[in-house]
Amino acid sequence: MSKFTPEPSCADPEDKNRLSIDAARARISSLVKTLDAWQQCPLRDSLNRVLHSDVISPLHVPAHNNSAMDGYAVNSRDIVNHPVRLKQVGIAFAGQPFTGEIKTGECIRIMTGGVVPPECDTIVMQEQVEAEGDWITIHKQHPQGEHVRYAGEDLKTGDIVLQAGRRIRPADLGLIASLGIAEVNVKRRLRVAFFSTGDELKSIGETLSTGQIYDSNRYTLYGMLQRLDVDLLDMGVVADDKALLRQTLSDASQQADVVITSGGVSVGDADYVKEILAELGQVDFWKIAMRPGRPLAFGQINNALFFGLPGNPVSVMVTFYQFVTLALRQLMGEDNPESLTLQVTCTDPIRKRPGRFEYQRGILSTNKHGLTQVSITGGQGSGILRSMSTANCFILLDEHCDGLPANSMVTVQPFAGLI
Ligand code: AMP
Ligand code: MG
Repeated sequence: MSKFTPEPSCADPEDKNRLSIDAARARISSLVKTLDAWQQCPLRDSLNRVLHSDVISPLHVPAHNNSAMDGYAVNSRDIVNHPVRLKQVGIAFAGQPFTGEIKTGECIRIMTGGVVPPECDTIVMQEQVEAEGDWITIHKQHPQGEHVRYAGEDLKTGDIVLQAGRRIRPADLGLIASLGIAEVNVKRRLRVAFFSTGDELKSIGETLSTGQIYDSNRYTLYGMLQRLDVDLLDMGVVADDKALLRQTLSDASQQADVVITSGGVSVGDADYVKEILAELGQVDFWKIAMRPGRPLAFGQINNALFFGLPGNPVSVMVTFYQFVTLALRQLMGEDNPESLTLQVTCTDPIRKRPGRFEYQRGILSTNKHGLTQVSITGGQGSGILRSMSTANCFILLDEHCDGLPANSMVTVQPFAGLI
């Protein structure tokens, strides 16, 4: 491995702006206040929204004892001795209960989901009886309660079905529908304004001159924000011009809960951006001991939270995923379980120098033995956006790591539907 040469800005423990990832997260979290505002909405519209209040079951699920199989509903006392013959006196379908009387020595035919009559306590599968006309013969012992689904087995009236803070997923929609609930209380949608900064940036449809590039950050940000189900305010590309930047930041902060910019926070640019942000609000400029994504500005402008993300396309996505998402979720009141990480073998050697935590881009796959493994996407430069497009996970490498040989165990963080 090559020898590590410290970088003055980031390896210097005296640098007051140098922050660990955890410290940055903690500072962000301490400034975020959960939204109070909420609204009632029709069930389907609640998909991807965050629950404001618990969903309580208004009924028992299932509502009645019912059959888990197609077969015969019997009383277990009648089948103690066998073989035994029972007379079939009726039939219960799902949604069409049998309402007659069942006497000793009698049974009914019952279909899956059919209500088990009060006289019966056991279901014998149709494959396990011999049927002839109105009579069936049972040849062996069946435990009492076999194949009966009991009322309230899944949920009881008054049970909390889903807790406030839950982001509603498709299974939740079904679960809520199964209780007959038509409307739920969800947090109001966040409004997030975002724009790109840089004199070199052009929008799609414009012609590039030498040295100019197309703005991609506004598109990755758009995609990631959409997945979080927020209302978006795309404010376009803003040139590196003091007056324009001041105006746009001020407009954005008056219209949105959160303002996100990309570019203009690295050392080369920071000074005049700093000046404007100091005029408009309270914003700190951090150098985080991570790669990519070292420079990050965070604070408050008017009543809006402000994130100044770095300009490099991969850095934008990494800092969004590692910091902004957490803050947006906290604002929306979403319960925030730690994102899933896995330990897997990395089939490639990993190049890294100690000093900073790295988020390298990886591809998780299943090998021919059925084991999960990860490989590196190739070039790891923070400008190589294709590495994010090819990847399906980050490979997390702590600051002490000094590179790894092929087939080492590494920790990965799957993108999990956000990126
Ligand atoms: P900056 O943080 O403004 O110094 O930008 C760092 C690098 O990211 C430069 O190479 C920029 O050209 C590039 N960059 C900044 N903003 C964007 C953007 N919106 N789309 C694509 N590349 C960008
Ligand atoms: Mg720039």
